[in-house]
Amino acid sequence: SIQALLDTIAQHVDPLLDQGRVASYIPALARVEPRQFGMAFAPIDGPIEGTGAWRTPFSIQSISKVFALALVVAGDGERLWSRVGREPSGSPFNSLVQLEHERGIPRNPFINAGALVVMDRLLSLAGDAAGAVLELLRAESGNPAVDMDPEVAASEAAHGSRNAALAHFMASFGNLENPVETVLDAYFRTCALRMTCEDLARAGLFLARHGLRADGSPLLTRSEAKRIHAVMLTCGTYDAAGDFAYRVGLPVKSGVGGGLLAVLPGRGVLATWAPALDPRGNSLAGLEALDVFTTRTGWSIF
Ligand code: GLU
Repeated sequence: SIQALLDTIAQHVDPLLDQGRVASYIPALARVEPRQFGMAFAPIDGPIEGTGAWRTPFSIQSISKVFALALVVAGDGERLWSRVGREPSGSPFNSLVQLEHERGIPRNPFINAGALVVMDRLLSLAGDAAGAVLELLRAESGNPAVDMDPEVAASEAAHGSRNAALAHFMASFGNLENPVETVLDAYFRTCALRMTCEDLARAGLFLARHGLRADGSPLLTRSEAKRIHAVMLTCGTYDAAGDFAYRVGLPVKSGVGGGLLAVLPGRGVLATWAPALDPRGNSLAGLEALDVFTTRTGWSIF
């Protein structure tokens, strides 16, 4: 059964929890106990199952970028792609170098520069961009208690010089519609969203349902959902997307809080959390857990 598989995976990854390092750029992440692992599987047509710390809230960080992107694609269709590319970057997520070569057009919507452009567009579309992402997460997870961590949001802002540099640099090329400070504030608050594997797996189900929300209404067309899956597969895990495709074979988005969101289109969503990261910033035990899950079940997009 899935439950037995999830429990086996939790045992299997246990030795990995002592390896890697938790993110240390802000105190709220640096003090997270590394020996934790949670995993949830939400099928599109059955009850959710989970193991370990699957009901412990954690900072979802860059996983929120998928939800922001979905809202902008829902509002704007293809228009976003004149301002953001969709090629893997092969560079660190906060790199400034490519931005100069590509005249203020970020390589993809999941590196920080690209996510800032997505936030900028969402501000124009929704007014309160961070609030719109939060509302989507609450509605799709069915948990109105999902919220932002104000300490993390404040620390992101206090340690946000690199993101500020990226935003100003893009503004200098005319690639922001709103004031830099407004975009940064929305971005930092969105990074500070906090939820459990259970909430996250449920919240991602609209992607597995090819764009259909929990209430049956369409957020995305089938084709838009396909495109978001493609960008997750090629760009969702920093500069390790090739390794994730090779080992997991699913569209995945990672965050420096140690979470991973993986979509099995037409079937369900997996969420994992293990805060210790590999050198490229992805959850070490989470990657192994997804590898074992897709290998044992044969459920991948390949
Ligand atoms: N919030 C951090 C930043 O923008 C990291 C986000 C992430 O990649 O998870 O620098």
